[in-house]
Amino acid sequence: MAFVVDVPASATLSDYEAVAHLAHHVEELEETARGVRAKLKGRKIWMVNSTAQGGGVAEMLPTMITLLRDLGFPTEWAVIESSEPAFFDLTKQIHNMIHGEGSPELPAGARELFERENASNAAFLTERIKPGDILIVHDPQPSALAGMIREQVDVLALWRCHIGLDLENASTRAAWDFLAPFLDAYEHGVFSTTAYVPEAFTHRASVITPAIDPLGDKNRELHFHKVVGILTNSALVRSPSPLVPPPYDDVVNRLQGDGSFRPANMWDNIGLLSRPIITQVSRWDRLKGWRPLMEAFVELKRRFVNGDDAEQDWAYRRRLDLVRLVLAGPDPESIQDDPEGQEVIEDLHAAYLSLSPEMQDDIAMVTLPMSSRRRNALIVNALQRASTIVVQNSLREGFGLTVTEAMWKRIPILTNSRACGPRHQVRDGVDGCLVSNPEDSGELAAMMSEMLGHHRNRDLWGLSAQRRVHSEYLVFNQVSAWLRLLGRLA
Ligand code: UDP
Repeated sequence: MAFVVDVPASATLSDYEAVAHLAHHVEELEETARGVRAKLKGRKIWMVNSTAQGGGVAEMLPTMITLLRDLGFPTEWAVIESSEPAFFDLTKQIHNMIHGEGSPELPAGARELFERENASNAAFLTERIKPGDILIVHDPQPSALAGMIREQVDVLALWRCHIGLDLENASTRAAWDFLAPFLDAYEHGVFSTTAYVPEAFTHRASVITPAIDPLGDKNRELHFHKVVGILTNSALVRSPSPLVPPPYDDVVNRLQGDGSFRPANMWDNIGLLSRPIITQVSRWDRLKGWRPLMEAFVELKRRFVNGDDAEQDWAYRRRLDLVRLVLAGPDPESIQDDPEGQEVIEDLHAAYLSLSPEMQDDIAMVTLPMSSRRRNALIVNALQRASTIVVQNSLREGFGLTVTEAMWKRIPILTNSRACGPRHQVRDGVDGCLVSNPEDSGELAAMMSEMLGHHRNRDLWGLSAQRRVHSEYLVFNQVSAWLRLLGRLA
Protein backbone atom coordinates (compact mmCIF):
# COMPACT_ATOMS: atom_id res chain seq x y z
CA MET A 1 0.00 0.00 0.00
CA ALA A 2 1.32 3.43 -0.92
CA PHE A 3 1.93 6.13 1.67
CA VAL A 4 2.17 9.92 1.63
CA VAL A 5 5.63 11.20 2.56
CA ASP A 6 6.09 13.85 5.18
CA VAL A 7 8.35 16.00 3.00
CA PRO A 8 11.68 16.62 4.77
CA ALA A 9 12.36 20.30 5.45
CA SER A 10 14.47 22.13 2.90
CA ALA A 11 15.32 25.74 2.07
CA THR A 12 12.56 28.23 1.26
CA LEU A 13 12.48 31.00 -1.33
CA SER A 14 13.58 33.58 1.21
CA ASP A 15 16.59 31.42 2.18
CA TYR A 16 17.74 31.39 -1.45
CA GLU A 17 16.98 35.06 -1.87
CA ALA A 18 19.34 35.86 1.01
CA VAL A 19 22.30 34.40 -0.91
CA ALA A 20 23.82 36.96 -3.26
CA HIS A 21 24.56 34.59 -6.13
CA LEU A 22 21.16 32.88 -5.95
CA ALA A 23 18.83 35.88 -5.59
CA HIS A 24 18.39 36.42 -9.34
CA HIS A 25 17.36 32.76 -9.76
CA VAL A 26 14.54 33.34 -7.27
CA GLU A 27 13.32 36.44 -9.11
CA GLU A 28 13.18 34.54 -12.40
CA LEU A 29 11.39 31.62 -10.79
CA GLU A 30 8.77 33.89 -9.22
CA GLU A 31 8.14 35.50 -12.57
CA THR A 32 7.54 32.10 -14.19
CA ALA A 33 5.21 31.16 -11.33
CA ARG A 34 3.15 34.34 -11.79
CA GLY A 35 2.64 33.41 -15.43
CA VAL A 36 1.09 29.99 -14.70
CA ARG A 37 -0.61 30.47 -11.32
CA ALA A 38 -4.08 31.12 -12.76
CA LYS A 39 -3.90 28.04 -15.00
CA LEU A 40 -3.01 25.70 -12.15
CA LYS A 41 -5.37 27.21 -9.59
CA GLY A 42 -7.20 24.64 -7.45
CA ARG A 43 -5.20 21.71 -8.82
CA LYS A 44 -2.94 19.71 -6.57
CA ILE A 45 0.28 18.21 -7.95
CA TRP A 46 0.96 14.59 -6.94
CA MET A 47 4.49 13.25 -7.28
CA VAL A 48 4.61 9.45 -7.10
CA ASN A 49 7.72 7.27 -7.03
CA SER A 50 8.90 4.03 -5.46
CA THR A 51 11.26 5.11 -2.68
CA ALA A 52 11.40 7.88 -0.10
CA GLN A 53 15.15 7.53 0.36
CA GLY A 54 18.18 6.58 -1.72
CA GLY A 55 18.97 7.42 -5.32
CA GLY A 56 18.54 10.51 -7.42
CA VAL A 57 14.74 10.83 -7.50
CA ALA A 58 14.25 10.77 -3.74
CA GLU A 59 17.15 13.20 -3.57
CA MET A 60 15.46 15.80 -5.78
CA LEU A 61 11.81 15.59 -4.80
CA PRO A 62 11.89 17.27 -1.34
CA THR A 63 13.47 20.45 -2.68
CA MET A 64 11.21 20.61 -5.72
CA ILE A 65 8.13 20.05 -3.59
CA THR A 66 9.14 22.64 -1.00
CA LEU A 67 9.73 25.22 -3.72
CA LEU A 68 6.45 24.44 -5.50
CA ARG A 69 4.54 24.77 -2.24
CA ASP A 70 6.35 27.98 -1.39
CA LEU A 71 5.40 29.39 -4.77
CA GLY A 72 1.75 28.62 -4.02
CA PHE A 73 1.28 25.27 -5.81
CA PRO A 74 -0.06 22.60 -3.43
CA THR A 75 2.06 19.47 -3.96
CA GLU A 76 2.12 16.02 -2.33
CA TRP A 77 4.55 13.14 -2.56
CA ALA A 78 3.37 9.53 -2.44
CA VAL A 79 5.56 6.43 -2.49
CA ILE A 80 4.34 3.04 -3.71
CA GLU A 81 5.07 -0.09 -1.73
CA SER A 82 4.98 -3.80 -2.35
CA SER A 83 5.40 -6.74 -0.03
CA GLU A 84 6.31 -8.93 -3.01
CA PRO A 85 10.11 -9.04 -3.43
CA ALA A 86 9.49 -10.41 -6.94
CA PHE A 87 7.95 -7.04 -7.89
CA PHE A 88 11.15 -5.13 -7.17
CA ASP A 89 13.24 -7.89 -8.82
CA LEU A 90 11.10 -7.38 -11.90
CA THR A 91 11.34 -3.58 -11.83
CA LYS A 92 15.11 -3.82 -11.32
CA GLN A 93 15.30 -6.05 -14.38
CA ILE A 94 13.25 -3.52 -16.36
CA HIS A 95 15.54 -0.74 -15.10
CA ASN A 96 18.61 -2.66 -16.31
CA MET A 97 16.95 -3.46 -19.63
CA ILE A 98 16.22 0.23 -20.27
CA HIS A 99 19.95 0.69 -19.75
CA GLY A 100 20.48 -2.00 -22.40
CA GLU A 101 21.65 -4.62 -19.89
CA GLY A 102 20.56 -8.09 -18.88
CA SER A 103 18.28 -10.66 -20.43
CA PRO A 104 15.42 -9.32 -22.56
CA GLU A 105 13.28 -12.25 -21.35
CA LEU A 106 10.93 -11.26 -18.55
CA PRO A 107 9.78 -13.97 -16.14
CA ALA A 108 6.43 -15.71 -16.64
CA GLY A 109 3.61 -13.77 -15.03
CA ALA A 110 5.56 -10.49 -15.10
CA ARG A 111 2.65 -8.46 -16.47
CA GLU A 112 0.16 -9.82 -13.93
CA LEU A 113 2.57 -9.16 -11.06
CA PHE A 114 3.29 -5.62 -12.30
CA GLU A 115 -0.42 -4.84 -12.67
CA ARG A 116 -1.41 -6.44 -9.36
CA GLU A 117 1.14 -4.49 -7.30
CA ASN A 118 0.36 -1.22 -9.09
CA ALA A 119 -3.38 -1.81 -8.59
CA SER A 120 -3.10 -2.09 -4.82
CA ASN A 121 -1.21 1.22 -4.75
CA ALA A 122 -3.63 2.85 -7.21
CA ALA A 123 -6.50 2.19 -4.80
CA PHE A 124 -4.76 4.26 -2.08
CA LEU A 125 -4.17 7.16 -4.44
CA THR A 126 -7.59 7.12 -6.06
CA GLU A 127 -9.12 7.84 -2.66
CA ARG A 128 -6.99 10.97 -2.28
CA ILE A 129 -6.58 12.47 -5.74
CA LYS A 130 -9.31 14.89 -6.87
CA PRO A 131 -10.57 15.49 -10.40
CA GLY A 132 -8.38 18.07 -12.11
CA ASP A 133 -5.31 17.22 -10.04
CA ILE A 134 -1.97 16.64 -11.75
CA LEU A 135 -0.31 13.25 -11.43
CA ILE A 136 3.44 13.04 -12.07
CA VAL A 137 4.64 9.45 -11.93
CA HIS A 138 8.40 8.88 -11.72
CA ASP A 139 10.14 5.95 -13.42
CA PRO A 140 8.90 2.51 -14.48
CA GLN A 141 7.96 0.94 -11.10
CA PRO A 142 4.67 2.87 -10.61
CA SER A 143 4.04 3.49 -14.33
CA ALA A 144 0.85 1.39 -14.46
CA LEU A 145 -0.81 3.76 -11.98
CA ALA A 146 -2.00 6.43 -14.39
CA GLY A 147 -4.30 4.13 -16.39
CA MET A 148 -5.77 2.68 -13.20
CA ILE A 149 -6.32 6.04 -11.50
CA ARG A 150 -7.77 7.62 -14.61
CA GLU A 151 -10.46 4.95 -14.78
CA GLN A 152 -11.78 6.48 -11.56
CA VAL A 153 -10.66 10.13 -11.50
CA ASP A 154 -10.10 12.60 -14.31
CA VAL A 155 -6.52 13.80 -13.84
CA LEU A 156 -3.75 15.17 -16.03
CA ALA A 157 -1.05 12.48 -16.01
CA LEU A 158 2.64 12.90 -16.84
CA TRP A 159 5.37 10.30 -16.73
CA ARG A 160 8.81 11.42 -15.61
CA CYS A 161 11.44 8.90 -16.62
CA HIS A 162 14.87 9.48 -15.10
CA ILE A 163 16.65 6.66 -16.89
CA GLY A 164 17.49 5.89 -20.47
CA LEU A 165 20.07 4.89 -23.02
CA ASP A 166 21.17 6.66 -26.17
CA LEU A 167 21.07 3.44 -28.21
CA GLU A 168 18.71 0.53 -28.80
CA ASN A 169 19.17 -3.20 -28.38
CA ALA A 170 17.04 -6.27 -27.71
CA SER A 171 16.84 -5.45 -23.99
CA THR A 172 15.76 -1.83 -24.41
CA ARG A 173 13.14 -2.85 -27.01
CA ALA A 174 11.74 -5.57 -24.76
CA ALA A 175 11.51 -3.16 -21.80
CA TRP A 176 9.70 -0.49 -23.83
CA ASP A 177 7.36 -3.10 -25.36
CA PHE A 178 6.47 -4.26 -21.87
CA LEU A 179 5.79 -0.72 -20.63
CA ALA A 180 4.06 0.63 -23.77
CA PRO A 181 0.45 -0.27 -22.82
CA PHE A 182 0.87 1.43 -19.43
CA LEU A 183 2.44 4.53 -20.92
CA ASP A 184 -0.50 5.16 -23.26
CA ALA A 185 -2.39 6.55 -20.27
CA TYR A 186 -0.05 9.56 -19.96
CA GLU A 187 -0.62 12.85 -21.75
CA HIS A 188 3.05 13.67 -21.73
CA GLY A 189 6.48 12.27 -20.89
CA VAL A 190 9.47 14.07 -19.39
CA PHE A 191 13.02 12.83 -19.93
CA SER A 192 16.51 13.95 -18.94
CA THR A 193 17.72 14.24 -22.53
CA THR A 194 16.19 13.91 -26.02
CA ALA A 195 18.21 10.75 -26.68
CA TYR A 196 16.13 8.95 -24.01
CA VAL A 197 12.69 9.67 -25.47
CA PRO A 198 11.23 6.27 -26.44
CA GLU A 199 9.03 5.80 -29.48
CA ALA A 200 5.93 5.63 -27.29
CA PHE A 201 6.41 9.31 -26.44
CA THR A 202 7.33 10.76 -29.82
CA HIS A 203 5.43 14.05 -30.21
CA ARG A 204 4.42 14.22 -26.53
CA ALA A 205 7.70 14.55 -24.64
CA SER A 206 9.79 17.29 -23.04
CA VAL A 207 13.30 17.40 -21.68
CA ILE A 208 13.87 18.66 -18.16
CA THR A 209 17.36 18.38 -16.76
CA PRO A 210 17.77 17.08 -13.21
CA ALA A 211 19.22 19.52 -10.73
CA ILE A 212 20.66 19.99 -7.26
CA ASP A 213 19.70 22.14 -4.31
CA PRO A 214 22.58 24.53 -3.54
CA LEU A 215 21.38 25.01 0.06
CA GLY A 216 20.51 21.38 0.81
CA ASP A 217 22.63 19.41 3.29
CA LYS A 218 24.24 17.52 0.38
CA ASN A 219 25.50 20.64 -1.36
CA ARG A 220 25.51 23.64 0.92
CA GLU A 221 28.81 25.22 1.78
CA LEU A 222 30.40 23.80 4.90
CA HIS A 223 32.77 25.74 7.08
CA PHE A 224 36.14 24.03 7.49
CA HIS A 225 35.42 23.09 11.12
CA LYS A 226 32.05 21.66 10.11
CA VAL A 227 33.71 19.36 7.56
CA VAL A 228 36.14 18.13 10.21
CA GLY A 229 33.27 17.73 12.70
CA ILE A 230 31.14 15.66 10.30
CA LEU A 231 34.05 13.45 9.24
CA THR A 232 34.99 12.89 12.87
CA ASN A 233 31.47 12.36 14.23
CA SER A 234 30.71 9.87 11.49
CA ALA A 235 33.97 7.96 12.27
CA LEU A 236 35.55 8.73 8.91
CA VAL A 237 38.51 10.32 10.69
CA ARG A 238 40.01 9.97 14.15
CA SER A 239 39.23 12.90 16.38
CA PRO A 240 42.02 15.47 16.04
CA SER A 241 40.85 17.23 19.25
CA PRO A 242 37.65 17.59 21.35
CA LEU A 243 34.54 18.50 19.37
CA VAL A 244 31.39 20.33 20.45
CA PRO A 245 28.74 17.99 18.93
CA PRO A 246 28.69 14.34 20.06
CA PRO A 247 29.51 11.42 17.72
CA TYR A 248 26.68 10.14 15.51
CA ASP A 249 24.68 7.10 16.71
CA ASP A 250 25.25 5.35 13.39
CA VAL A 251 28.72 5.68 11.94
CA VAL A 252 30.55 4.96 8.70
CA ASN A 253 31.93 1.42 8.54
CA ARG A 254 34.98 0.34 6.60
CA LEU A 255 35.74 -3.06 5.11
CA GLN A 256 38.65 -4.56 7.07
CA GLY A 257 41.36 -6.98 5.99
CA ASP A 258 39.61 -9.79 7.89
CA GLY A 259 36.42 -9.24 5.86
CA SER A 260 34.44 -7.55 8.65
CA PHE A 261 32.98 -4.02 8.53
CA ARG A 262 34.10 -1.85 11.47
CA PRO A 263 33.91 1.89 12.25
CA ALA A 264 36.09 3.49 9.59
CA ASN A 265 38.47 5.13 12.10
CA MET A 266 38.91 2.07 14.29
CA TRP A 267 42.45 1.03 13.34
CA ASP A 268 43.73 3.57 10.89
CA ASN A 269 42.97 7.01 9.50
CA ILE A 270 42.03 6.94 5.83
CA GLY A 271 43.80 10.29 5.60
CA LEU A 272 40.86 12.44 4.50
CA LEU A 273 42.30 15.54 6.18
CA SER A 274 45.73 15.40 4.60
CA ARG A 275 46.23 12.88 1.80
CA PRO A 276 45.21 13.20 -1.84
CA ILE A 277 41.89 11.36 -2.05
CA ILE A 278 39.98 9.91 -4.99
CA THR A 279 36.33 9.21 -4.15
CA GLN A 280 33.28 7.65 -5.70
CA VAL A 281 29.93 7.82 -3.88
CA SER A 282 27.11 5.79 -5.42
CA ARG A 283 24.57 3.07 -4.87
CA TRP A 284 26.02 -0.46 -4.93
CA ASP A 285 24.97 -1.05 -8.52
CA ARG A 286 27.18 -2.91 -11.00
CA LEU A 287 26.54 -0.21 -13.61
CA LYS A 288 28.29 2.32 -11.38
CA GLY A 289 31.60 0.72 -12.47
CA TRP A 290 32.98 0.00 -8.98
CA ARG A 291 35.09 -3.01 -9.88
CA PRO A 292 36.92 -1.42 -12.85
CA LEU A 293 37.52 1.66 -10.71
CA MET A 294 39.16 -0.42 -8.00
CA GLU A 295 41.26 -2.21 -10.63
CA ALA A 296 42.32 1.09 -12.18
CA PHE A 297 43.43 2.42 -8.81
CA VAL A 298 45.55 -0.70 -8.23
CA GLU A 299 47.09 -0.15 -11.66
CA LEU A 300 47.75 3.53 -10.87
CA LYS A 301 49.80 2.52 -7.85
CA ARG A 302 51.63 -0.31 -9.62
CA ARG A 303 52.49 1.60 -12.76
CA PHE A 304 53.09 5.17 -11.69
CA VAL A 305 54.65 4.89 -8.24
CA ASN A 306 57.34 2.22 -8.67
CA GLY A 307 56.64 0.60 -12.04
CA ASP A 308 57.84 1.27 -15.58
CA ASP A 309 55.90 4.53 -15.86
CA ALA A 310 56.98 5.85 -12.43
CA GLU A 311 56.87 9.61 -12.31
CA GLN A 312 60.29 11.26 -12.13
CA ASP A 313 59.19 14.43 -10.37
CA TRP A 314 59.56 13.90 -6.61
CA ALA A 315 56.47 15.79 -5.46
CA TYR A 316 54.31 14.24 -8.17
CA ARG A 317 55.47 10.73 -7.26
CA ARG A 318 54.89 11.42 -3.58
CA ARG A 319 51.32 12.51 -4.36
CA LEU A 320 50.75 9.24 -6.24
CA ASP A 321 52.31 7.34 -3.39
CA LEU A 322 50.06 8.92 -0.79
CA VAL A 323 46.79 8.98 -2.74
CA ARG A 324 43.97 6.80 -1.46
CA LEU A 325 40.74 5.58 -2.96
CA VAL A 326 37.41 5.82 -1.15
CA LEU A 327 34.52 3.74 -2.44
CA ALA A 328 31.42 4.87 -0.58
CA GLY A 329 27.87 3.57 -0.77
CA PRO A 330 24.84 3.03 1.42
CA ASP A 331 24.83 0.83 4.52
CA PRO A 332 23.86 -2.71 3.37
CA GLU A 333 21.14 -2.76 6.07
CA SER A 334 19.32 -0.09 4.07
CA ILE A 335 19.37 -2.13 0.87
CA GLN A 336 18.31 -5.51 2.20
CA ASP A 337 15.60 -5.64 -0.44
CA ASP A 338 18.17 -5.14 -3.21
CA PRO A 339 19.77 -8.52 -4.00
CA GLU A 340 21.90 -7.02 -6.76
CA GLY A 341 23.32 -4.46 -4.34
CA GLN A 342 24.32 -7.23 -1.96
CA GLU A 343 26.00 -9.10 -4.82
CA VAL A 344 27.99 -6.03 -5.80
CA ILE A 345 29.17 -5.56 -2.22
CA GLU A 346 30.22 -9.24 -2.08
CA ASP A 347 32.04 -8.99 -5.39
CA LEU A 348 33.98 -5.89 -4.27
CA HIS A 349 34.62 -7.52 -0.94
CA ALA A 350 36.20 -10.55 -2.65
CA ALA A 351 38.30 -8.32 -4.92
CA TYR A 352 39.48 -6.28 -1.94
CA LEU A 353 40.46 -9.33 0.10
CA SER A 354 42.62 -10.59 -2.76
CA LEU A 355 44.81 -7.44 -2.60
CA SER A 356 48.09 -7.07 -0.72
CA PRO A 357 47.84 -5.54 2.81
CA GLU A 358 49.51 -2.33 1.52
CA MET A 359 46.96 -1.99 -1.26
CA GLN A 360 44.15 -2.71 1.21
CA ASP A 361 45.43 0.19 3.33
CA ASP A 362 45.13 2.45 0.29
CA ILE A 363 41.56 1.48 -0.60
CA ALA A 364 38.73 2.30 1.79
CA MET A 365 35.43 0.65 0.96
CA VAL A 366 33.01 2.36 3.30
CA THR A 367 29.30 2.10 3.99
CA LEU A 368 27.41 5.24 4.96
CA PRO A 369 24.63 5.17 7.56
CA MET A 370 21.21 5.84 6.05
CA SER A 371 19.18 6.06 9.28
CA SER A 372 19.19 9.87 9.12
CA ARG A 373 18.69 11.45 5.72
CA ARG A 374 20.26 14.68 6.96
CA ARG A 375 23.38 13.06 8.34
CA ASN A 376 23.80 10.92 5.27
CA ALA A 377 23.68 14.05 3.13
CA LEU A 378 26.17 15.86 5.36
CA ILE A 379 28.56 12.91 5.27
CA VAL A 380 28.41 12.79 1.45
CA ASN A 381 28.91 16.56 1.34
CA ALA A 382 31.95 16.48 3.66
CA LEU A 383 33.43 13.43 1.92
CA GLN A 384 33.17 15.04 -1.51
CA ARG A 385 34.74 18.24 -0.14
CA ALA A 386 37.61 16.25 1.38
CA SER A 387 38.37 14.69 -2.03
CA THR A 388 41.04 15.74 -4.48
CA ILE A 389 39.13 14.10 -7.32
CA VAL A 390 35.59 12.73 -7.46
CA VAL A 391 35.08 9.85 -9.88
CA GLN A 392 31.82 8.68 -11.37
CA ASN A 393 32.82 5.61 -13.30
CA SER A 394 29.32 4.59 -14.39
CA LEU A 395 29.01 2.29 -17.38
CA ARG A 396 25.52 3.74 -17.85
CA GLU A 397 24.08 6.81 -16.18
CA GLY A 398 20.73 8.51 -16.74
CA PHE A 399 22.10 11.82 -15.46
CA GLY A 400 24.42 11.36 -12.50
CA LEU A 401 23.67 13.77 -9.68
CA THR A 402 26.92 12.78 -8.03
CA VAL A 403 28.69 14.40 -10.98
CA THR A 404 26.70 17.62 -10.50
CA GLU A 405 27.39 17.54 -6.76
CA ALA A 406 31.15 17.39 -7.27
CA MET A 407 31.05 20.08 -9.98
CA TRP A 408 29.12 22.40 -7.68
CA LYS A 409 31.77 21.97 -4.98
CA ARG A 410 34.54 22.72 -7.50
CA ILE A 411 36.00 19.24 -6.97
CA PRO A 412 37.54 18.04 -10.24
CA ILE A 413 35.43 15.27 -11.72
CA LEU A 414 36.64 12.22 -13.59
CA THR A 415 33.94 10.42 -15.53
CA ASN A 416 33.47 9.01 -19.02
CA SER A 417 31.99 9.83 -22.39
CA ARG A 418 30.20 6.49 -22.71
CA ALA A 419 27.67 7.29 -19.99
CA CYS A 420 25.20 9.73 -21.50
CA GLY A 421 24.35 11.77 -18.37
CA PRO A 422 27.92 12.57 -17.32
CA ARG A 423 28.91 13.31 -20.93
CA HIS A 424 26.18 15.96 -21.12
CA GLN A 425 27.32 17.63 -17.94
CA VAL A 426 31.08 17.57 -18.29
CA ARG A 427 32.89 19.10 -21.25
CA ASP A 428 36.17 17.20 -21.46
CA GLY A 429 39.13 19.30 -20.36
CA VAL A 430 36.85 22.21 -19.48
CA ASP A 431 34.71 21.13 -16.51
CA GLY A 432 36.65 17.97 -15.68
CA CYS A 433 37.97 14.92 -17.51
CA LEU A 434 36.32 12.15 -19.50
CA VAL A 435 37.80 8.77 -20.33
CA SER A 436 36.35 6.94 -23.30
CA ASN A 437 35.95 3.54 -21.67
CA PRO A 438 35.09 3.17 -17.96
CA GLU A 439 36.13 -0.50 -18.09
CA ASP A 440 39.62 0.21 -19.40
CA SER A 441 41.69 0.28 -16.23
CA GLY A 442 44.80 1.48 -18.08
CA GLU A 443 43.04 4.54 -19.50
CA LEU A 444 41.44 5.31 -16.17
CA ALA A 445 44.71 4.91 -14.24
CA ALA A 446 46.56 7.19 -16.68
CA MET A 447 43.84 9.85 -16.36
CA MET A 448 43.93 9.69 -12.56
CA SER A 449 47.69 10.16 -12.67
CA GLU A 450 47.35 13.05 -15.11
CA MET A 451 44.75 14.78 -12.96
CA LEU A 452 46.74 14.31 -9.77
CA GLY A 453 49.78 15.83 -11.45
CA HIS A 454 48.17 19.10 -12.52
CA HIS A 455 46.78 21.08 -9.65
CA ARG A 456 46.44 24.31 -11.67
CA ASN A 457 44.20 22.48 -14.15
CA ARG A 458 42.23 20.94 -11.31
CA ASP A 459 41.45 24.44 -10.02
CA LEU A 460 40.37 25.61 -13.49
CA TRP A 461 38.13 22.58 -14.09
CA GLY A 462 36.52 23.13 -10.70
CA LEU A 463 35.80 26.78 -11.39
CA SER A 464 34.32 26.09 -14.79
CA ALA A 465 32.27 23.17 -13.45
CA GLN A 466 30.72 25.31 -10.74
CA ARG A 467 29.75 28.01 -13.25
CA ARG A 468 28.13 25.39 -15.43
CA VAL A 469 26.04 24.03 -12.56
CA HIS A 470 25.13 27.58 -11.54
CA SER A 471 23.67 28.32 -14.96
CA GLU A 472 22.24 24.90 -15.93
CA TYR A 473 21.71 22.45 -13.10
CA LEU A 474 20.28 24.24 -10.08
CA VAL A 475 16.80 23.41 -8.83
CA PHE A 476 15.40 26.78 -9.95
CA ASN A 477 15.79 25.87 -13.64
CA GLN A 478 14.12 22.55 -12.99
CA VAL A 479 11.09 23.98 -11.15
CA SER A 480 10.70 26.75 -13.77
CA ALA A 481 10.72 24.15 -16.54
CA TRP A 482 8.08 22.08 -14.75
CA LEU A 483 5.84 25.10 -14.17
CA ARG A 484 6.09 26.20 -17.80
CA LEU A 485 5.25 22.68 -18.97
CA LEU A 486 2.31 22.25 -16.57
CA GLY A 487 1.01 25.70 -17.53
CA ARG A 488 1.10 24.66 -21.18
CA LEU A 489 -0.63 21.30 -20.63
CA ALA A 490 -3.20 22.37 -18.03
N1 UDP B 1 23.85 8.95 -2.41
C1 UDP B 1 23.82 9.13 -1.05
N2 UDP B 1 24.38 8.20 -0.24
C2 UDP B 1 24.96 7.08 -0.73
C3 UDP B 1 24.99 6.88 -2.14
C4 UDP B 1 24.42 7.84 -2.96
O1 UDP B 1 23.32 10.15 -0.56
O2 UDP B 1 25.46 6.27 0.05
C5 UDP B 1 23.23 9.99 -3.26
C6 UDP B 1 24.20 10.74 -4.14
O3 UDP B 1 24.87 11.75 -3.41
C7 UDP B 1 23.25 11.30 -5.21
C8 UDP B 1 22.19 10.21 -5.32
O4 UDP B 1 22.30 9.41 -4.14
O5 UDP B 1 22.64 12.48 -4.75
C9 UDP B 1 22.43 9.33 -6.52
O6 UDP B 1 21.97 9.97 -7.67
P1 UDP B 1 22.60 9.68 -9.10
O7 UDP B 1 21.84 10.50 -10.09
O8 UDP B 1 24.08 9.92 -9.05
O9 UDP B 1 22.40 8.11 -9.35
P2 UDP B 1 21.15 7.12 -9.13
O10 UDP B 1 21.32 6.54 -7.75
O11 UDP B 1 19.88 7.90 -9.28
O12 UDP B 1 21.36 6.07 -10.17
